[in-house]
Amino acid sequence: MKFEKQIISDLAINGGNPLFKQSIPVGRPNIGNRKQLNKYFNEILDNKWLTNNGPFVQKFERSIENYLGVKNCISTCNATIGLELVIKALNLTGEIIMPSFTFVATAHAAQWQGLTPIFCDIDPVTHNIDPNKIEDLITSNTSGIIGVHLWGRPCDVELLCNIAYKHNLKLIFDAAHAFGCSYHGEMIGSFGDAEVFSFHATKFLNTFEGGAIVTNNDQLAYKIRLMKNFGFSGNDNVVSVGINGKMNELSAAMGLVGIDSIDHFIDINFKNYQEYRTRLNNISGITVIDYNFNERCNYQYIVSEIDKNITHISRDKILDILQKENILARRYFYPGCHNMEPYKTLNSNDQVRLVETEKLIKKVLIIPTGMSVTENDIKKICNLIKFIIKNGELL
Ligand SMILES: *Cc1c(COP(=O)(O)O)cnc(C)c1O
Repeated sequence: MKFEKQIISDLAINGGNPLFKQSIPVGRPNIGNRKQLNKYFNEILDNKWLTNNGPFVQKFERSIENYLGVKNCISTCNATIGLELVIKALNLTGEIIMPSFTFVATAHAAQWQGLTPIFCDIDPVTHNIDPNKIEDLITSNTSGIIGVHLWGRPCDVELLCNIAYKHNLKLIFDAAHAFGCSYHGEMIGSFGDAEVFSFHATKFLNTFEGGAIVTNNDQLAYKIRLMKNFGFSGNDNVVSVGINGKMNELSAAMGLVGIDSIDHFIDINFKNYQEYRTRLNNISGITVIDYNFNERCNYQYIVSEIDKNITHISRDKILDILQKENILARRYFYPGCHNMEPYKTLNSNDQVRLVETEKLIKKVLIIPTGMSVTENDIKKICNLIKFIIKNGELL
């Protein structure tokens, strides 16, 4: 193999020529039709209406409502503020149950709103919150549950709804990964009390920075609309505490061209996913996670699990070599919220309690995909991973 010597020399002397001249990071943005985007940008500048519920924001919200079949879409400046708005508008207090295996924003949103995140272990197969472990965590202080549809694979919505209903808890979904995905054939966006999407640059659909709260609850939507605009219900009339959670017009325009290209994004992501899965699943010790082909999915994440008992080389060592070869794979969501401050100090027992989470954070490796990764790149990346694992004990 051509790069065989290279890796060994890289490891030995930390030099040499990496496999890729330009680095290939995870999370490259999906960008729609540029001509159309520039047209929109010019239109916005001509309108001189840059933000404050402008025409592009309104069009973006209506188009999400149509795409998802949900009654209300409230765009936000990002998903973190979106989660906080939902928590605030639902009057949640005390404790809120969520997985630790998520981006730290899920926990921060609750903590920032004065709640205590209570971390629940995950199901090692789905990577999502394990519904069977939730009820043990419910106390008289619990007010809600946040499920995260990790990698766009839906939570067990039905079980979570049952638990929430039984214990009179609010149910929120962090759907940051799950735009364009479905659960039992129904688009994610209509479940629980509200769901929150992220349109951050790295997410499947992006508005540079941005997010959206979607809900079929009109009253809740009304309340959140006021809250995200400082609590204004009209000129000079403030009816509640509020924040600045607005999306601007340029972001909405980016989102609109993105929505027009969704099928194209999915085609590319799916092709890459199949290519990776076929090649990597042939290597023992590495498994690319499954997506349910009966559901709609955005295939935005190539998630692999490294079994060190088989590879004899750790995930971190593999990652290190990949990065030296300019393949900027990542460990999501390492080391888990419960190992980050302030949660680590607050819940010192979680490392022992969250058995499956602790196992998974040592295994997961996210591999680059998206529009800028070619079939040839994938071939080279997979061959390299194969080589690393084959020579795991030597490296
Ligand atoms: C990206 C992400 C967020 C935060 O989204 P922002 O739009 O960046 O605030 C929240 N939760 C999860 C699971 C995420 O991946």
